[in-house]
Amino acid sequence: MGEWANWSGKVDASPVDVVAALDEAHVVATVVEASARDVGVRCVGAAHSHAPLVPTDGLIVDMAALTGVYEVDRARGVARIAGGTRIADLGEPLRAKGVALFNQGDIDRQAIAGAVATGTHGTGPTLQNLSAGVRGLRLVVADGTVVECDADRNSELLAAARLSLGAFGVVTEVTLAVRDSYVLDETMWFEDLDEILDRVDELTNATRHFEFFWLPGKSQAVCKSLAETDGEPRYPLDDEGSRLAWSYDVLANDRPDKHTEMEYSLPEEAGPSCLRELRDLIARDFPDLAWPLEYRTLAADDVWFSSAYERATVTISVHQGVDQDDGPLFRACEEVFLAHGGRPHWGKEHHLTGAQLAEIHPRWDDWWNVRDQWDPEGRFLNDHLRRWRDG
Ligand SMILES: Cc1cc2nc3c(=O)[nH]c(=O)nc-3n(C[C@H](O)[C@H](O)[C@H](O)COP(=O)(O)OP(=O)(O)OC[C@H]3O[C@@H](n4cnc5c(N)ncnc54)[C@H](O)[C@@H]3O)c2cc1C
Repeated sequence: MGEWANWSGKVDASPVDVVAALDEAHVVATVVEASARDVGVRCVGAAHSHAPLVPTDGLIVDMAALTGVYEVDRARGVARIAGGTRIADLGEPLRAKGVALFNQGDIDRQAIAGAVATGTHGTGPTLQNLSAGVRGLRLVVADGTVVECDADRNSELLAAARLSLGAFGVVTEVTLAVRDSYVLDETMWFEDLDEILDRVDELTNATRHFEFFWLPGKSQAVCKSLAETDGEPRYPLDDEGSRLAWSYDVLANDRPDKHTEMEYSLPEEAGPSCLRELRDLIARDFPDLAWPLEYRTLAADDVWFSSAYERATVTISVHQGVDQDDGPLFRACEEVFLAHGGRPHWGKEHHLTGAQLAEIHPRWDDWWNVRDQWDPEGRFLNDHLRRWRDG
């Protein structure tokens, strides 16, 4: 194993150095140094991506020390946040200013710049992924200058780099959309999988967040809904039953068991048939799979590289233990996902080529053109990304 490894331990790297950035000036110096040494630069947030986005044989810049909420403008509905801030460290400082994130993923371990760089999302038919909430970025670009982009300044850079895959520069600040603080009430129940799939639109639209987890071999699935409420939050949290608490305490879960994951986004109408096909495939070819499938929804957005670009979406993810070879399972599931019009999650495993990605992402060329303007030498690319550009 190399000197650097991701959360699951399945992706590793042997960079010339891992630089723990101290502040923005240190990031600038590091990018200038990389240029002088002619090596690549890749950033790491919380290392929770399953895809080999971070590995480089150049410099890995660890952003863990650049944390904090710099400013909240409640009237405009935005917060300016240091790029390395973990989502877990946002809830309370934001609530102290009366605001909260619109949505979060299953866990809150990610750094905010890492989460938006891959289109991290939660569930909810009216809720978009975190990248869609990016209103501005401050980043150190390839020549070492600090650039700000928003709707008025360098707006094309913002359009592309909201979901950047770390390929535009080092993001030191993210300006993110926020809303007034809110309380969520969690309800969980078991239901027959076929019944869920028959009435999934009704279940999805009945509440702010709906999702279900289905364990292969079982006839039932665990459903979870979260509703916004005027109720008083109840602390300590009820970790055995249902939670009624500030949004960030209900949206975040523990996922301690190390695994790998593949997730595809599908047009919403394809969700139920895709899940049924996966169920048949797993029953036939992978009857011992002991990890659940997760089914969520996501509103359409206009983020160039989003898996929900211009379409209302269902996401389905498949997991495998780190001690097992996920290749046969993921490749077989991937065929089903692709047959249903799927787009892969950038932070999770997939096996698509650049040519396949270009076909399913309408803004593929635009994204690369803007990226190449800001980083003509490819300082912020690694082999994984370079292979896509080359087809
Ligand atoms: C247990 C678990 C649960 C998960 N749950 C969800 C979920 O519910 N929903 C979902 O959508 N995804 C989920 N994911 C995937 C995860 O949210 C994404 O992979 C996310 O990108 C990880 O964030 P990170 O901070 O660890 O980023 P990293 O994995 O460290 O980096 C991701 C990308 O961001 C870039 N990057 C990081 N920081 C910067 C920076 N400051 N400047 C420029 N580029 C940067 C990196 O170079 C890389 O390209 C989960 C992953 C795990 C392991």
